[in-house]
Amino acid sequence: MPFSDIDTWVFDLDDTLYPASSNFFPQVAERMGLYVAETFDLPLDEAKLEQRRLFLEYGTTLSGLVAEHGIEIDAYARFLMQVDYGRIPRNPALVDAVARLPGRVLVFTNGFREHAHACLDQLGFPPDSFEAIADIRTIDFKPKPRPIAFETFFAEHRVDPTRSIFFEDSPRNLRTAKDLGMKTAHIVTDTAWGNMGLEDGDGFIDHSVVDLSTFLTDTVLTNV
Ligand SMILES: [Mg+2]
Repeated sequence: MPFSDIDTWVFDLDDTLYPASSNFFPQVAERMGLYVAETFDLPLDEAKLEQRRLFLEYGTTLSGLVAEHGIEIDAYARFLMQVDYGRIPRNPALVDAVARLPGRVLVFTNGFREHAHACLDQLGFPPDSFEAIADIRTIDFKPKPRPIAFETFFAEHRVDPTRSIFFEDSPRNLRTAKDLGMKTAHIVTDTAWGNMGLEDGDGFIDHSVVDLSTFLTDTVLTNV
């Protein structure tokens, strides 16, 4: 059975546990640009370029802000979270399917734990549906897809990658996951980010997932 050897189910958060079609995440990205504009007193278009540079150079905007400017992390998290979480649709089918997975269930995100809690709450997950939320602090601001991010996550949460599967919308992150021994499930989206890294094929993707709750219910839970 394809999933019977899996004992740890790992989920990215943004555009994975809630759909990219909700158009929720662009609000957060907008706040990142606004933060740079306000903090460094730049016009918004210049700030967006600077934010893009930090993102490309460090993997997340936050990692760049920490490395180059030593910003106050909790305040940045609060600033980003001034968005409409109501755009995330409740998903009882997903909540039910995740609860039925045999084994451990974790979130592994480049974002903030408090943001993850807000998203999970909006989706309708009861508290403690996930054993842990590994966030950007857990991985010491060294984000996915860097191997060190995964290695820190595995060590911190005692995860055997060869007995785990990673659900994630970023192909670049899945490539590292596969290199390190995880099974991979790609959440298909039409975002630029969700297609970046597919240029050289998809040999590192074990499963392509169009709808996460349908996939868990019809393909995973019938094969564990
Ligand atoms: Mg994501």
